[in-house]
Amino acid sequence: ELFAPERPNSEGWDLTHRPTRQKIEVARAPFATAQWAATPRLSTDASGSGQTQSITNPARPDDVVGTVEWATVDQVTAACSAAKAWSVDASTRSAVLNRAADLYETHFGELFALLAREAGKTHQDAVAELREAVDFLRYYAARSDGAPPVGVFACISPWNFPLAIFTGQIAAALAAGNAVLAKSAEQTPLIADRAVALMHDAGVPRTALQLLPGAGDIGAALTSNPKVTGVAFTGSTETAQVIHRSIADHLDPGTPFIAETGGLNAMIVDSTALPEQAVQAIIESAFQSAGQRCSALRCLYIQDDIAQSFLEMLTGAMDALMLGDPWVYGTDVGPVIDEEARADIQTYIETAARDGRVLHQVSAPKTGYFVPPTLIRVNSIADMEREIFGPVLHVATFKAKDIDAVADAINATGYGLTFGLHTRIDDRVQHLSERVEAGNIYVNRNQIGAIVGSQPFGGEGLSGTGPKAGGPHYLDRFRAYPVDASHV
Ligand code: GLU
Repeated sequence: ELFAPERPNSEGWDLTHRPTRQKIEVARAPFATAQWAATPRLSTDASGSGQTQSITNPARPDDVVGTVEWATVDQVTAACSAAKAWSVDASTRSAVLNRAADLYETHFGELFALLAREAGKTHQDAVAELREAVDFLRYYAARSDGAPPVGVFACISPWNFPLAIFTGQIAAALAAGNAVLAKSAEQTPLIADRAVALMHDAGVPRTALQLLPGAGDIGAALTSNPKVTGVAFTGSTETAQVIHRSIADHLDPGTPFIAETGGLNAMIVDSTALPEQAVQAIIESAFQSAGQRCSALRCLYIQDDIAQSFLEMLTGAMDALMLGDPWVYGTDVGPVIDEEARADIQTYIETAARDGRVLHQVSAPKTGYFVPPTLIRVNSIADMEREIFGPVLHVATFKAKDIDAVADAINATGYGLTFGLHTRIDDRVQHLSERVEAGNIYVNRNQIGAIVGSQPFGGEGLSGTGPKAGGPHYLDRFRAYPVDASHV
């Protein structure tokens, strides 16, 4: 059921293979200094304010990537009135979404350039992001059926996966036959604009997919417009709560609301773990994408009797990370998304440093919005007040006899997104995966990078409502009711 036999995932890219890297260089080259312009993409001609803003590269703030014309609240109203459910048969929707996936793949050079210059994505992150976007399109296309859609979906997406999550929400809503009003993240409207253009080129009608680049008031206007009959959101837990209240106040009480939110994700490394494997998994989970994934590892628990030698290996691996411009092949850690994020994370680190809790820090470039990967000592995950969305890893130690108390402390945060475990003890794998409440549990590997179809992604508690993205139940929330209720 997870894999539709007719729909394999997209192919991997071997970045250690020189011709593959050259192919990327050649395809991106025309976009190295290009500038894009994003505008509201509406099916009506409601004119906007003409208010524009430049979008700059977080690694090189003097590199202007393009300009965005923000949508207005009046345009939201017009777009809501013009939205029309995509009432063609399921096989047509499926064919169009597959064509969109093909177009994403042929435009990879432009999309990689945007991912690097607008969102600070390294080569590895860009490849993973394009593949995930394409996989979402094809996975949901394969599950399009004759069930009636909910109606008009507002899709509100984050800047940290400006192509994959943006596309995933829209593809699901469209595959089920809904009309979509997409609000791109404030920081990443340019790639969203290109993605919508490619979906339109593939044959998605403009009445079924409209783009509203905007800030907070556009989201609020969408989630209070009575024409909206469903909301899909990925972002912070606080914003999800605001949206939920807006739905309660303004929309039908039965409005489906799908939220994928934050996490205070933990990993336990016990003394039977393979240290090299665990170190690699930690480096990827905490610092890849500069820690800007909701799945990222935030609090590492190391068993006390291996802690000292293990931390030496971990800090050594941190020192080997290459920080810099994600445009350059070999960069492991790029910038955080903007100056506001940098300042917030930096202030957090400085407070910890004043308390003598910074265990290790690598150095970061001085220009651009870089935050150095940092280890901060805590006694327990309970010491963490909030999710810090950057390359900051908290470290605690535990005694073997207290392992259940660690699991309980992880659960007591109220979040439940990802959990990582490194151990060679099979009973412990069984026991902790039952005891720890988390949507995605990863054993003896990293805890980021869920794969469409094989690892449906989503959390519980404060981390989200479910159903999991990229899983067999996701589309059902976009349907008024399933055609055949027996398969639910
Ligand atoms: N699906 C992503 C992963 O598994 C995380 C998504 C997010 O950060 O919102 O790493």
